[in-house]
Amino acid sequence: MRQSILFAPTLKEAPHDAVVPSHVLLVRGGFIRQIAAGIYAMLPLGWRVIRKVEAIIRREMDELGAQEFHLPALHPREVWDATDRWEVMGDNMFRLKDRGGRDMCLGMTHEEVFTHLANNELRSYRDLPQVWYQIQTKFRDEPRPKSGVLRVREFIMKDAYSFDIDREGLDAAYEHQRKAYCGIFERCGLKYYIVEAHSGAMGGSESAEFMVRTDAGEDMVAACRSCDYAANTETARSRIEPASDPEEAGAPERFPTPGLVTIEDLAGAHPDKASADRQIKTLVYVLDGKMHLVLLRGDHELAESKLQGATGAKDLRPGHAEEIREALGADPGSLGAVGVDHLPVLADTELEGRREMVTGANEDGFHLEHVSVKRDIPRTRFADLRTVTENEQCVHCGGSLEVFRALEVGHIFKLGTRYSDAVGATVLDAAGKEEPIIMGSYGIGVERVMAAAIELHHDGDGIIWPDSMAPYQIHVLALQTNDESVRGKAEELYEGLVAEGYEVLLDDRDERAGVKFKDADLIGIPVRVAVGKRRLQEGSVEIRRRGEDAVRVVDASLQSVCAEVVARP
Ligand code: ATP
Ligand code: MG
Repeated sequence: MRQSILFAPTLKEAPHDAVVPSHVLLVRGGFIRQIAAGIYAMLPLGWRVIRKVEAIIRREMDELGAQEFHLPALHPREVWDATDRWEVMGDNMFRLKDRGGRDMCLGMTHEEVFTHLANNELRSYRDLPQVWYQIQTKFRDEPRPKSGVLRVREFIMKDAYSFDIDREGLDAAYEHQRKAYCGIFERCGLKYYIVEAHSGAMGGSESAEFMVRTDAGEDMVAACRSCDYAANTETARSRIEPASDPEEAGAPERFPTPGLVTIEDLAGAHPDKASADRQIKTLVYVLDGKMHLVLLRGDHELAESKLQGATGAKDLRPGHAEEIREALGADPGSLGAVGVDHLPVLADTELEGRREMVTGANEDGFHLEHVSVKRDIPRTRFADLRTVTENEQCVHCGGSLEVFRALEVGHIFKLGTRYSDAVGATVLDAAGKEEPIIMGSYGIGVERVMAAAIELHHDGDGIIWPDSMAPYQIHVLALQTNDESVRGKAEELYEGLVAEGYEVLLDDRDERAGVKFKDADLIGIPVRVAVGKRRLQEGSVEIRRRGEDAVRVVDASLQSVCAEVVARP
């Protein structure tokens, strides 16, 4: 491709709302343009990268025997009603009506439609196993589209679905996908973590996320420094030192705490009896419409996903100020569970059996001391509810955990019979008995993979594409287009490299050398061949690999340029 005709509008300045490197560089490099919030156009360079990523994914999927489909993005409401997710997906689903007034939606994911097909078409255990996939557009009305193509409202996903007669079949399909994902992300040049994950709206028993460690991500991962335990903090567990409490010293007693409404305020004012780890933090949550009290140690934070998991609640939100006051007679800051008989109480396991604690008195400006959880809050149900933090102990090996920000690039789920039960998708087993189909589902975000590669591979000048994903492999720069010999040599090398089978971009624009170098660094093609007047007089050209300082001066023949391109340090 000649750059003089390529549409790759590079920019000196990043858009003002661009913060993360992939967003800045994809826009500056002329790969993408925003059309509306969370909606992007892929320009020619961006689309080439996307197609590379798709090809890597397609190859791994085909190798494991998965079959490629292409399902509609436009879905009738009925297939989503069948699994209850027309309701569950809430505002994240783009909904519309057809001309007959029938409800339709744009697909956020395709469990429903694939299960619908499986239900209609798969009859016998002999039809199984099947692994079906597609690389197709998804629509999600995300509450906060951000960070360029990292979180958008329309994106391309590789989604695969496995259909098996038994658990062993599902385990094997899941393992095949897991391995294929490792291959995909390795080929894409992404260092990844495989982490235990929360299944969220997907349901099912087991799931793992593929995470890339980067501050551009919106997830938090806890990973052991000593073993391979790693989990999304939505589900991560850890061990902490057990508390040692004094003996019970009598019944709960009110004491005045005017103006002390945070854990820190109270700990600061009463360090003797109310250090943060001696306080019970009381939160109010409304779970599927019913108010609950949720208790944690003062210095611990709630993981909402764990609360959801522990209660099976579909809908969950913190209580509003007015409803809290009405239910408990006080404002947040003075709330507690002692003596509250009309609301269910859930507490984190770290509070089990704790004595001599301090908690709100449900009276503004007062707290209670000498609180014993077992004695004074007897109806409590315990569950693991807290978010793990840095340096706590690994539940597997006791090693210390590190907690970091990460970006989810892929997610694999064992769905079990969640979807097949909902639609009655069964097959006849060898004995002629109807058995529900056992399913798995496996997703990768294609634009996310592209952006993640940039988050990991860039410098102050621009993108450093991994070879596998680069829009072109070689960038030939004709540094002085007004010089006959420079132009001739650049053309000759370009034609020759293309004939050798390389994907080559030739910068034949009528621009200064400085502009060409800057754009080449920004666009990030792995190998740069600079043809310039001075070197050419000695019969040589300069070759540099993007991201490396070393410039190699080689003979200006196609043969030696090819030899240098192939030779990897
Ligand atoms: P997230 O937690 O980041 O919202 P998710 O758990 O909803 O993602 P899945 O339903 O597991 O995502 O979708 C599979 C893959 O699709 C994700 O691993 C991610 O790579 C990609 N993906 C999901 N949502 C988006 C989005 N809004 N924009 C771009 N890619 C996305
Ligand atoms: Mg996910």
